Amino acid sequence: MPGRNHLFVPGPTNVPDRVLRAMHVAMEDHRSSKFPELPLGLFSELKKVFKTRDGQPFIFPATGTGGWEAAIVNTRSPGDKMLACRFGQFSHLWIDLAQRQGLDVQVLEVEWGEGAPPERIHEALAADKNHEIKGVMVVHNETATGVTSDVGAVRKAIDAAKHPALLYVDSVSGLGSLDFRMDEWGVDLAVTGSQKGLMLPAGLGIVCASQKALGQRAAAKCHRVFFDFGDMITANAGGYFPYTPALPMLYGLRESLTILHEEGLENVFARHHRLAEGTRRAVKAWGLELCAKAPQWYSDTVSAIMVPPGFNGADVIDTAYRRYNLALGAGLARVAGKLFRIGHLGDLNELMLAGALVGAEMAMRDVGIQVTPGSGVAAAEEYWRSTAAPLPPKGGAAPADAQKAAEAKQARAKVGA
Ligand code: PLP
Repeated sequence: MPGRNHLFVPGPTNVPDRVLRAMHVAMEDHRSSKFPELPLGLFSELKKVFKTRDGQPFIFPATGTGGWEAAIVNTRSPGDKMLACRFGQFSHLWIDLAQRQGLDVQVLEVEWGEGAPPERIHEALAADKNHEIKGVMVVHNETATGVTSDVGAVRKAIDAAKHPALLYVDSVSGLGSLDFRMDEWGVDLAVTGSQKGLMLPAGLGIVCASQKALGQRAAAKCHRVFFDFGDMITANAGGYFPYTPALPMLYGLRESLTILHEEGLENVFARHHRLAEGTRRAVKAWGLELCAKAPQWYSDTVSAIMVPPGFNGADVIDTAYRRYNLALGAGLARVAGKLFRIGHLGDLNELMLAGALVGAEMAMRDVGIQVTPGSGVAAAEEYWRSTAAPLPPKGGAAPADAQKAAEAKQARAKVGA
């Protein structure tokens, strides 16, 4: 099919050309005296994205699932009690992984479309007088339902119960797109993957561990070899890895972190919010509902859009793919067929997303869903135009100028100017 495939699954996301070029490298000796400058730079830049001072990032040649496993096996023993909330396929899979590692997971079942309930977490922890629960597991952004949880509120619930449990957070589809405050929220183990907000191919599982979490390694009896933090800590100290690193991924990561910092993290978050809000306006104009039950749960990285009763979301997705070269995200597990998802994260702007909205609209009409032609993109367009940044000067703005302009606009919006 001519033209580009429009990739709007919520990961993998579009890899910027700059990152692709940065990954196009000859192999080199990863034990040379020059090599450490690459990983050491990555560790310090990653800490800025996690917003941590004392946390320690680990980069595994893996995926988000590997990151889940690393977080668990380095800090826990079989039989340990955990508290976890299940409200979508990814929170389910993480619970499943912990159970298969022999952990005893107390599951709080939450309606799909809602996020982590701080009050129920508080209640469960307050009832755990002997502090048998060793960790609380929360998925920051449930990609299956387009729901973002308030991790800060979960931390407050843990503190209010005066409970020492570690806080384990999956931000696989959040980090680098949504604000993440490891230190402020007291996150002990933060997990992500490379193929979403970090704008890389899949291939890295990244975990950031607090000093408190690292302190529990010695007592943790889960088996670990490949994912052992200990081997990583020893090798990483000098800027090396305990095994052969995925070199192109590391060069790509360096470039993607540079891109994020050039735009400015706060601007990245604001851009994701604008793109997501435009999508939500489109969904409303179509007369459809999100899977997320209320605005407090709306995700700025993925919208899961319910199809009307009698229609199958998989038909919309298949039509969009085969007829319009547009990849939309599928409904998973319990919501299979009931929805389709638009991923709006990573290297993305309004016009790219407008293409996806038009494609989704055409595919919906093709399968018989009654939506007014052009209604979705018109609603998104109205919103995006009304919230657009000031016009950059002719000749294009330097990134720093664009950032200053965006900050000034945000400041003006805050004071109501
Ligand atoms: N957690 C969340 C929230 C995800 O969206 C995904 C994948 O989409 C995963 C974990 C698993 O990550 P991976 O597929 O990289 O193993």
